[in-house]
Amino acid sequence: MQYISTRGQAEPTDFFGVLMHGLAPDGGLYVPDEWPTLDPALLRRLRSMPYATAAWHVMRPFIHGGSTGDAGDRGISDATLRRLLEEAYASFVHHSVAPLFQTGPDEWLLELYHGPTLAFKDVAMQVLGRMYEHVLAHHDRHSTLVGATSGDTGSAAIEAIRRSTRASIFIMHPRGRTTEVQRRQMTTVQAPNVHNIAIEGTFDDCQRILKALFNDAAFRDEVSLSGVNSINWARVLPQVVYYATAASSLGAPDVEVSFSVPTGNFGDIFAGYVAKQMGVPIKRLVIATNDNDILARFLETGDHVLEGVTPTISPSMDIQVSSNFERLLFDIHDRDPARVRADMQALVDDGRFHVDPARLDGVRELFGAHRADERQTLAAIRDVFDETGFQIDPHTAVGVHAARTDRTEHPDDGTPMVVLGPAHPAKFPAAVERATGVRPALPPHLSDLYDREERLAVLPADVATVRDHIRAKLAG
Ligand SMILES: *Cc1c(COP(=O)(O)O)cnc(C)c1O
Repeated sequence: MQYISTRGQAEPTDFFGVLMHGLAPDGGLYVPDEWPTLDPALLRRLRSMPYATAAWHVMRPFIHGGSTGDAGDRGISDATLRRLLEEAYASFVHHSVAPLFQTGPDEWLLELYHGPTLAFKDVAMQVLGRMYEHVLAHHDRHSTLVGATSGDTGSAAIEAIRRSTRASIFIMHPRGRTTEVQRRQMTTVQAPNVHNIAIEGTFDDCQRILKALFNDAAFRDEVSLSGVNSINWARVLPQVVYYATAASSLGAPDVEVSFSVPTGNFGDIFAGYVAKQMGVPIKRLVIATNDNDILARFLETGDHVLEGVTPTISPSMDIQVSSNFERLLFDIHDRDPARVRADMQALVDDGRFHVDPARLDGVRELFGAHRADERQTLAAIRDVFDETGFQIDPHTAVGVHAARTDRTEHPDDGTPMVVLGPAHPAKFPAAVERATGVRPALPPHLSDLYDREERLAVLPADVATVRDHIRAKLAG
């Protein structure tokens, strides 16, 4: 399988190249040059397989292009992939990895938070960390991973890399904009290769600094820079799996299924789009947003306009520029990289771009978008608690609200709706307690989190300062 850049000015590369580089050298994102298809008979069988086996079937065409052999020197052989997936998913406390829980008539919650850091980021990161370690050892190389987090990516990445002997990791988070649980999950990891940076700014500032570091070719080579953000295709790919397994469990390929996806950087929902391209019968993908609803407005009008970030009780979705959206934009433009480049340049120059609404007809058939404000988010937490006795986190609640709004618009459609549950309620205890009156407890392995010692650097939102800090830490 070959990967091409959405901006069309980078050499195509294979899965290994994509894994190691994250962002393409021309500033674009890598996408597969064609979509492999999932055999309907295999899709039907996924429901009776262990999760790691299902993951192997769904992911291997993207790594080997469907061949059965060893991808040779550069790659990850079939047998290695199988072992890495089995090890990765053994770190989950729920044997099913991504279990479905019924929350209403034809409404299901896909629980994606049974990994070590209690958010769906573990589903991909536990795989990515193991792939890195394997590939670095294979090539006898070392690497510096840098990432930006609005809360959950950071802890998942740190957890995946903390035992690495070959990779150091630097994670930037917007100071004061994560919950205390999220921050402590990152800053209390006492490993010499783990470095936390609190940036005095927003998550978008962190993303901007990250992009600038990657665009600095000299620095990139000097420290063997690599990315852990969801711009890395190897982050998106493992997320395709649970769309396929959930659909299979609910009757695919014989029935269609819809998904409501709490959306920030557009990585998770883009994985749903990939599943659809592979032949998983997905009827609708609902983009569930909080007050930061730039994507919902774009789908409606074709205007993509930056307006600043509003902090909410679902902070992992407090994002204006959804990096992964460029992958969908590439397809909206019929894979014409010149158009993507023009839109991205307009975004930098004018803070906006516009797509002719006629071009959006295709994606509008698949994608819907609904917003939940703060009051509606709390109401959804309370409603699900009243109806089921089960606590959900605020991000999941945004998904529930969007799913139920979508249902009122398509009342007779008879399609099961799966709401993705991206985080455990104990990661966001204040909001959940406010809505339900009950404080959700951390699971046993994190119960002493509030007593652990923290370690972090506070830096201004300035590229040069961050670059110098990374150099100094690596030298020391
Ligand atoms: C990362 C995250 C999201 C957003 O996912 P994207 O892939 O960035 O769209 C939503 N909720 C939670 C809890 C997250 O950690």
